[in-house]
Amino acid sequence: MNERMEAERRVVIVGAGMAGVQTAVALREQGFTGRVLLIGAEPHQPYDRPPLSKAVLLGTAEGSAFDVDFEALGIELRLGVEVTALRPDAHEVDTEAGPVPYDVLVVATGARPVALPGSEGVRGVHLLRTLDDAQRLRPVLDSRHDIVVVGAGWIGAEFTTAAREAGCAVTVVEAAGRPLAGALPDEVAAPMAAWYEESGAALLTHARVAHLEPGEVALEDGRLLPAEAVVVGIGARPATNWLAGSGVALGPEGAVTADAYLRTSAPDVYAVGDCASFPSARYGERLMVHHWDNALQGPRTVAAAIAGEAARPYDPVPYFWSEQFGRFVQYVGHHPAADTMVWRGDPDGAAWSVAWLRGDALVALLAVGRPRDLAQGRKLIEAGTPLDPGLVADPSVPLKSAARA
Ligand SMILES: Cc1cc2nc3c(=O)[nH]c(=O)nc-3n(C[C@H](O)[C@H](O)[C@H](O)COP(=O)(O)OP(=O)(O)OC[C@H]3O[C@@H](n4cnc5c(N)ncnc54)[C@H](O)[C@@H]3O)c2cc1C
Repeated sequence: MNERMEAERRVVIVGAGMAGVQTAVALREQGFTGRVLLIGAEPHQPYDRPPLSKAVLLGTAEGSAFDVDFEALGIELRLGVEVTALRPDAHEVDTEAGPVPYDVLVVATGARPVALPGSEGVRGVHLLRTLDDAQRLRPVLDSRHDIVVVGAGWIGAEFTTAAREAGCAVTVVEAAGRPLAGALPDEVAAPMAAWYEESGAALLTHARVAHLEPGEVALEDGRLLPAEAVVVGIGARPATNWLAGSGVALGPEGAVTADAYLRTSAPDVYAVGDCASFPSARYGERLMVHHWDNALQGPRTVAAAIAGEAARPYDPVPYFWSEQFGRFVQYVGHHPAADTMVWRGDPDGAAWSVAWLRGDALVALLAVGRPRDLAQGRKLIEAGTPLDPGLVADPSVPLKSAARA
């Protein structure tokens, strides 16, 4: 494509979260000279989400706006504007303010938290996804309310950590028998239940909310829990309702089913971040990753494809972290691909890891307070280095030294 043609191309990115912003930035980094328009439904300057359940919630940081000079990069921002529909034949999206044409469209609309049935619009019930949500929760923490947290997942654990730090009485209601059900195997997540008790929060497992009363949460087993506030953290689903009728193929949970280059089934339309799934050749299955690193890496593939660089298939080793109960928890890889699990250290101790192997190759690693394991494990997974499982099991041996000679 000649320079004049590229300068006239218009890339429209829908969703001004991590994935949308990183796509815009990566386009410029990769030398794209055409127009870049970033449309976001939220009125705020684009911001990062992980601090919302940590420093922003505790008031030790005011906000988490991305440090990006959009003007200097020639990225046009249209904030507080919701995109309501996509018409691929016309190469247009619809907004409340009228249609917007595109040459290339990037769908980066992220995910929306799942609401507790019957709780929508009920006073005192909170979700934690946006800056507005975090700002609404700050006074709740300041006034040291009795809080019921529904769901002992990543958000539930981080919110509970902050609320206990602020001095609130917290009861966590979890339908499964342990925290992080669905994310980690039973035996790995089981020791994490003690972290709640240790922080002074009560964790009720095998417990389900029946209904909400003013100032109380009623459980199915008849128990009533005092609750001046309820925080719901029971998962998130791709924010793709606006694509209904567009012909863009969606998977069972509503994720855009992108291909290995993050292209969708519609011409000139890409999808990236929490809203999309992609086929992983590395793990032999389609992955939907709702973590920050995926919203950082995926945009580079999209931008390379749009800028006409020799794009490589998107096939990352997934990575995420969580800060909970004074611990730094990190995970890399995809453990369902493993056939063996190896403990490195005592899960009742302050620092330990779990390694998952397929044959003698590492495929996933969970590190609690052992960031060096994580950093070394990530490289070993990427390289597929054969390891000695006996040495992997010895926490005094650096993971990289477990490589077979
Ligand atoms: C509280 C919290 C803490 C987290 N902590 C961690 C962590 O510690 N570690 C980690 O690895 N991950 C963490 N995550 C996950 C990580 O933040 C997400 O994976 C990441 O934000 C995904 O980026 P995204 O751009 O795909 O989606 P989002 O961040 O959801 O951004 C999508 C944007 O699109 C906008 N949008 C949606 N629909 C439309 C529309 N129709 N028109 C216009 N705009 C629209 C939304 O308003 C939103 O601003 C956390 C998430 C949350 C909510």
